[in-house]
Amino acid sequence: MSDIEFVKRLVFKIAEIGSKRKIVGSLSLNDIEPFRHFFNNKGDLKYNELNVMDGAWTRREILTRYLLVSAVLDQGPDIEGVRNLLKNVTNALYRKEIRIFHRPIDFFRELNISIDEILKKHDSIKKLRAEIWAKDNNSNPNKYNLFFAQSPRGIVSINQVLDYSIHRWGVPLCVPLLLEKDLNEKESAQPLVEYLETFESSEIMSKELKNHKRYGMGSAIGDKACHLFAKWYVHTYRLSTRNDIGWSKWSFEAPFDSNAGRVLFRTGFFASLADLRDYENWEVIQKRKGKGKTHYIRVTNIRGKKAQKEIENEEIIENYKEVVLNHLKIRKRIPQKFEIQQIPNAILLNSKFGVGDFDDGLIYIGTRFCFNHKKPKCAECPLRNICIGKLKHPEWIKNYTT
Ligand code: SF4
Repeated sequence: MSDIEFVKRLVFKIAEIGSKRKIVGSLSLNDIEPFRHFFNNKGDLKYNELNVMDGAWTRREILTRYLLVSAVLDQGPDIEGVRNLLKNVTNALYRKEIRIFHRPIDFFRELNISIDEILKKHDSIKKLRAEIWAKDNNSNPNKYNLFFAQSPRGIVSINQVLDYSIHRWGVPLCVPLLLEKDLNEKESAQPLVEYLETFESSEIMSKELKNHKRYGMGSAIGDKACHLFAKWYVHTYRLSTRNDIGWSKWSFEAPFDSNAGRVLFRTGFFASLADLRDYENWEVIQKRKGKGKTHYIRVTNIRGKKAQKEIENEEIIENYKEVVLNHLKIRKRIPQKFEIQQIPNAILLNSKFGVGDFDDGLIYIGTRFCFNHKKPKCAECPLRNICIGKLKHPEWIKNYTT
């Protein structure tokens, strides 16, 4: 089997796993008290009521605001802990009539209470999650900390709750706040939704979340978080009102995080598209910079890197052009090279799976089996019969961490 045929098989397998395991990538929004009536008894979102007003805004708008904050926070070390933190703080603040998604200014007006709740809920989550997290990650429970900042080496833990609260909660809450204020006299029941959907594609929207001159969140949000938001908005919660090709299920890049990077490395996805030496040159692999002198995989450095091996598959080549020009809409001319991060879109194009299914599969495998240490649960992993690390290269499992 050629390298690209292997990659195709692997991408389809991961997407198939993800399509059955959507719940892993979800945020349990029906557990959030102010949103409970948006869901039916089975916990499904009432799609036909998304345009119903909830106070001054539509339900779609309120959920979109929540997803935006959630995407920014989702960069911490323990996804489950982070999601519980946002959920528990939201519930606690709403019980005190601090309605941060209906009135974002409340977060700042009652900043002392907002910060107290973030600290309190963090402490209680730490009690529940620290041991589990430490075991899964071969770490020390005392190191459990969901407060983080960006450094040149990536995400680092910090202790300053004010910095964390303003930078990570405050900035995404200010996006709808500023949009509301900019509306002046104009009436809109969903300013954030309307703003997001002005962009030609969900990929462009995801980039503008960070880069837009007025509404961009800059260093408060990473590239991965921008793509995660696009995935939730288009795929997981289907909040988008746009049905055109630029907002299709192949219209945004998969949000490559450390879980995704680890699975893609160990299974052989990366090595099938370029040599390990290429990844070292791009500093995607950083020799002996990981835990216990392992080689560190810094997956964010993959962004924009091109496949170095030949893509010998006409269908994927044609799909790639179609994806880049018409779905992502990020190029005007036919590309000559294939960006590694966009290859899953081309493989899955026009199939029953979207790039969100692929990402759901990566999260499921990365958080349930492919742990960030020498002994992941390969024997139980659904990729065990295809994973090159498991079958041929045990050193890819033992010597590399994310
Ligand atoms: S078989 Fe093992 S190394 Fe491969 S993806 Fe599964 S857990 Fe990870």
